Amino acid sequence: MQVIETLFTAAALVLLGALGWAVFAYFSPYRECRWCHVFAAVRLRCRRCKGTKLTRRLGAKQVHRVTLSLRQAWEERP
Ligand SMILES: [Zn+2]
Repeated sequence: MQVIETLFTAAALVLLGALGWAVFAYFSPYRECRWCHVFAAVRLRCRRCKGTKLTRRLGAKQVHRVTLSLRQAWEERP
């Protein structure tokens, strides 16, 4: 049953990693835009961040949607 234990450990690690990333993305959803210099090189305004120089971190939108729905579910509890 070594294989199942290994699989379980791997799954737990992935889940923990996802949770950690969710917390990280929740508290710092923005990062510096990596595309500005690409657009600047061709003299265009950055379309990724629309000139704000900040882009959303991967998953930040989803994390906020989930926390929002969780909060809504909590407030609408019977
Ligand atoms: Zn940009």
